[in-house]
Amino acid sequence: MSQAFGEARCADEMLESFDPSNGRKLGEVRLASVADVQTAVRRARQAQVGWAAMGVDERCRILNRMRGVLIDRAAEIGRVVSSENGKPPVEPISLTGPLCETIKLHTRLAKRLARGVRVSPTFFLGSKARIFYEPVGVAGYILPWNFPFELGVKHMIPALAAGNAVVQKPSEANPLIGELIADLFCDAGVPADVVQMVHGYGDVGGALVDEADVICFVGSPGTGRRVMERAARTLTPVVLELGGNDAAIVRADADLDFTAHGLVNGTCYNAGQVCNGIERIYAPRDLVEPLTERILALVGKLRQGVEGDDYDLGPVAWAPQIEIYEAHTADAIAKGATLRHGGKALELHGGRYWPPTVLTGMTQEMTMMQEETFGPFLPIMAVDGDEEALRFANDSKYGLGASVWTLDVAAGEALARRLRAGSVMVNNAVQSGGCVTLPFGGERESGVGRVQGEQAYFHYVATKSVMTCPKSVRNLWMPYGAGAARVARGATKLFSGRSIGERLSGVLDVVRNRPRA
Ligand code: NAD
Repeated sequence: MSQAFGEARCADEMLESFDPSNGRKLGEVRLASVADVQTAVRRARQAQVGWAAMGVDERCRILNRMRGVLIDRAAEIGRVVSSENGKPPVEPISLTGPLCETIKLHTRLAKRLARGVRVSPTFFLGSKARIFYEPVGVAGYILPWNFPFELGVKHMIPALAAGNAVVQKPSEANPLIGELIADLFCDAGVPADVVQMVHGYGDVGGALVDEADVICFVGSPGTGRRVMERAARTLTPVVLELGGNDAAIVRADADLDFTAHGLVNGTCYNAGQVCNGIERIYAPRDLVEPLTERILALVGKLRQGVEGDDYDLGPVAWAPQIEIYEAHTADAIAKGATLRHGGKALELHGGRYWPPTVLTGMTQEMTMMQEETFGPFLPIMAVDGDEEALRFANDSKYGLGASVWTLDVAAGEALARRLRAGSVMVNNAVQSGGCVTLPFGGERESGVGRVQGEQAYFHYVATKSVMTCPKSVRNLWMPYGAGAARVARGATKLFSGRSIGERLSGVLDVVRNRPRA
């Protein structure tokens, strides 16, 4: 598991999978070699031809069957994802709803766009101007370990609806979830080789970047940068969904019980291993203590490390993360923060857990306020008013998400517009990722492009303009007649004149100087 990215490996090695809640081995899959990735993409390319030729109606019918598969196999999804990814089964099961909505959104869009979109022919009177969206071929996915099931299904839907084949490299931490995803698509009736998985580390991801026609990468900013650099060699388009350090701004008028509950949910969901989870909290100075008391009461009730399915926070799904938690906690304490809850890893039933960790007395230069911690942390910093909170919230190299907590919705929405982040929620956090009609993505080191909403579809299509012209178009061809310049100027006045008079004089220029047949 600790192999350095980019290292070559022989084709017969196996990738083992473990349950992070107890360290037990769950299974193994075959590691892909670079040659395996090339073969997978070649087969995907062949299969894509039939998938695209099938027609949009049949393709969308098959994809919509996936909704039934997700409903019918929900218990199995909960079990597999919980065991390999360490979250309560309720969480992956609850995400099947947004996945079904994603299928509805993109199959409807694919059908709407299938006959092309007619636009104005502008000066080319009598011509037909249309835009067609053609599949690009094979879409490659390189994904992280924190939401392997949800992201692994969701991001492939727009590409498949548009008529592409897909090859996914799941995180090395969860190959079995990758296999489950492939099996679900197969169960829905997606033809062989249209959806494939290749397993391995960074070298396998790199090979996929070399082979695919378009890449969707979700992971850390450092790896995202390497993927983009590699894609530049072949000019392969990439969409990058990277890390975050989301700020929560608590306004002076906030309902403290509701806000404390929302902040705990927004930091502890998926044990804090959420790209757009709350990572730092700015609260008015006199509210810090009453807010902290409510937060402490709530985190004390969360269940962690309980055997069975009945718990709120699972184990740390990727053990190296604990070093980051420890380093960020130690840095905050060394710089003057007060630890109010948690702050130390727990060993339970053979798994490693991190408790909800509450800190007050935070200051902006602490690592936790600057870097992504990616755990169940509630670091609270006192501020004097909205403007100071906004200034600190925007003082970040990240720009994925943010939230505002207030009873004054208009003031909250006004702050939302001024926050430099891809998604902002008022009186909630994290869950806009489940509102699949909304675009999702970040600014600056949080990413490039958007992976959700209708916008996601356009990453996987080649936009083609088709123009069909009548014979009269010859009037625009060489050789230029004596009055051509006057006709050209007249046409500009006719279409863009500032007044009726100027437009009419454009008509006269065109009529008087037009070429005679
Ligand atoms: P990571 O960057 O370490 O790995 C992501 C994927 O890239 C893995 O599959 C890995 O094997 C692969 N990879 C590693 N090196 C590679 C290389 N050189 N070339 C190609 N592929 C390579 O990220 P992670 O630790 O798995 O995930 C956590 C990160 O993901 C966090 O920063 C989190 O915020 C981010 N994330 C972002 C979103 C989002 O939508 N913005 C969603 C989930 C997670």
